[in-house]
Amino acid sequence: MKHSNNAYKAFLKTAGATFLLLGTLMASPFSASAQALGNPDLTQAGYYRMKVGDFEVTALSDGTVPQNFHQLLTNAKPGEVDSLLKQNYQTDPVELSVNAYLIKNGDKLILVDAGTAGAYGPTLGHLTESLARSGYKPEQIDAVLITHIHIDHTGGLMDGARMAFPNATIYISKTELDFWLSPESKANAPESLKTYYAQAEATVGPYLKAGKVKAFGNGKELFPGITPIATPGHTPGHTSFMLESGRQKLVFWGDIMHAAAVQFVDPSVTIVYDVDPQAAAIQRKKAFIDAAKNGYWVAGDHLSYPGIGHIRANGSSYIWIPANYSTYSSGK
Ligand SMILES: [Zn+2]
Repeated sequence: MKHSNNAYKAFLKTAGATFLLLGTLMASPFSASAQALGNPDLTQAGYYRMKVGDFEVTALSDGTVPQNFHQLLTNAKPGEVDSLLKQNYQTDPVELSVNAYLIKNGDKLILVDAGTAGAYGPTLGHLTESLARSGYKPEQIDAVLITHIHIDHTGGLMDGARMAFPNATIYISKTELDFWLSPESKANAPESLKTYYAQAEATVGPYLKAGKVKAFGNGKELFPGITPIATPGHTPGHTSFMLESGRQKLVFWGDIMHAAAVQFVDPSVTIVYDVDPQAAAIQRKKAFIDAAKNGYWVAGDHLSYPGIGHIRANGSSYIWIPANYSTYSSGK
């Protein structure tokens, strides 16, 4: 690890506090949702497909889960969360999507993030069904690009005790992999973070042992047209992936944002899941400015399914224009 020892310990302390809070907050909404929805499968979307240059991009729904933004959002002004939710006809808790994305180029199938599997109850964990509806089997996936190691992005790598994508190579930023899975980092992890280290071990560990994980640096193409961009903050090695083909471009944001109604208006509002909230807010503002200025597609794992769209600057805030807002043409 490159951290100085003290800085690293301070970082872990902050991260520990964050995750302790996260653990407490996550428990109640999930159980409530499972009871309230009765048959949650009926409301789950399947897949949404579009072309980006020569690539075919398919949004896959893992499902949705209620999130209490009142408790989860931080650095908001008094009354801000309520008033922005109201403007968007939303009430707490807000139903949050968990999306993953499938990229097809020729006969190569690349997944971006892997959903939750069984980690959060029956309203989530539907990625494999969505994949099947879109016409593919997990065995056909050649590669999985991981934006960051949180259970709602890596949980679906495993199907019980077996690897859900047995023929895939898993691509993770070296910084992210070192943080969650290096023996040194694990040895220094505070008690409160142990669960999260255990989840990283349980979901990524089997692929590591099988020699199926490739750690990457940033800025260098992983596949023709697909380049990782370092966006650290939400986690230390958080990565967005840029897809470029012809004159078309789409950036897979990962967890650049969680609360559309609030953060498009005020990107400085953060969430307890951020390991380094201030850095996460900086990355969010950078991502918004760039996407609005250059007019490319973006895809967010927690934007309402399919989570693909454009953003437009509107003074100091941003307007989200989802891909399914109007009939989609291939954009040529
Ligand atoms: Zn997430």
